[in-house]
Amino acid sequence: MKILVVNAGSSSLKYQLFDMDEGAVIAKGLCERIKIKGSVLTYKPTGKAAHVVERYMNDHTDAIKMVLDALIDPEIGVLTSMDEIDAVGHRIVHGGEKFSESILLTDEALEIIEGLTELAPLHNPANLMGIRACREIMPNTPMVGVFDTAFHQTMPSEAFMYGLPYAAYTDFMVRRYGFHGTSHKYVTQRALDKLDIDPESSRIITCHLGNGSSISAVKGGRSIDTSMGFTPLEGVPMGTRCGSMDPAIVTYLMEKLGLDVDGINAYMNKESGVYGISGVSSDFRDLAAAASSGDKRAEIALSVFAYNVKKYIGAYAAALNGVDAIVFTAGIGENDRGVRAAILSGLDYLGVEVDFDYNMTCPRGEEAEISLPHSRVKVFVIPTDEELMIARDTARLAGR
Ligand code: ADP
Repeated sequence: MKILVVNAGSSSLKYQLFDMDEGAVIAKGLCERIKIKGSVLTYKPTGKAAHVVERYMNDHTDAIKMVLDALIDPEIGVLTSMDEIDAVGHRIVHGGEKFSESILLTDEALEIIEGLTELAPLHNPANLMGIRACREIMPNTPMVGVFDTAFHQTMPSEAFMYGLPYAAYTDFMVRRYGFHGTSHKYVTQRALDKLDIDPESSRIITCHLGNGSSISAVKGGRSIDTSMGFTPLEGVPMGTRCGSMDPAIVTYLMEKLGLDVDGINAYMNKESGVYGISGVSSDFRDLAAAASSGDKRAEIALSVFAYNVKKYIGAYAAALNGVDAIVFTAGIGENDRGVRAAILSGLDYLGVEVDFDYNMTCPRGEEAEISLPHSRVKVFVIPTDEELMIARDTARLAGR
């Protein structure tokens, strides 16, 4: 069985083709600069050289056509016909309160997703363009939607309500939704496979630390709280996002800096976070290099990040009434050993005992247990695989 996984942005489209019988990716790549001069398709069959095709893509339908052409190309393709694709799984950022799990994409479902555009004005319309393009070209192939928000729909009201008038929730859908759900769910399942405890009573804190970062409290395999909120701006300070702060700062700075709504949004989303603090970069490799050559602001940015992640771990240990495992994933969580060490130091009161030497030497790109054997709380590094998760849900729902 073959499943195509599509992650469509406004001017880009990432794809991976899975052979579910082998559980392996057979080809992947991306389309960039859709509807912009200089459109380019990258196509990489597993184990073979990558190909780059430069041809203008007028829309997402053009992009998908080019992907399929590459997949069935007699010389470099991995399929003989596009009929070999049994189903297509689409990443969708926002499912609001409507979707608590993945779904088969019917006309009715697409209308509901369209209705959620206000909640994710940049992402949902782009995701829909990818879905519509695939439906146009593959009208008989089942399409499945997998939502970033779905895993967090199990949060109780005490975790998802803000201290605002109730009408903000009922009239304007203002509540915590949370994001990165597919990743939090994937690493939770992998951690549960490794833990010798009853999954129903398990207490896991998952730290997805990448360009965007979020932390989740997962009880019995279900999300009960998460650090991102109404939008991905809440939580820890990130690459360029400010994270949580006193809400009064927003109007204060709008006044001081003479910013309008778009201006303050750009300021908080693109100019803040570790980039804003350091003035160096949003990339943690650049920050580590700058800090080690004596850049004070880079050092502060790194410690602000680690301190805030640590605070969420403490908060979620309280929410979960203890913790069985802490999991690190995504670009920083999987790779940045120094940041992991800073987050994990001084958590011994919680029963977290880390093998700090192994933390610094464990191979990148592989699953690792970095707690000491007798540690009450297990600490894992688990590379995330959102695409595999989407492919699995797609195969299940398409009934193939
Ligand atoms: P996203 O998917 O949100 O764009 P990723 O999960 O790919 O982000 O994470 C990207 C971040 O991971 C980069 O900004 C960088 O800071 C960090 N990162 C990647 N590799 C390393 C590394 N070897 N050491 C430290 N940080 C790394």
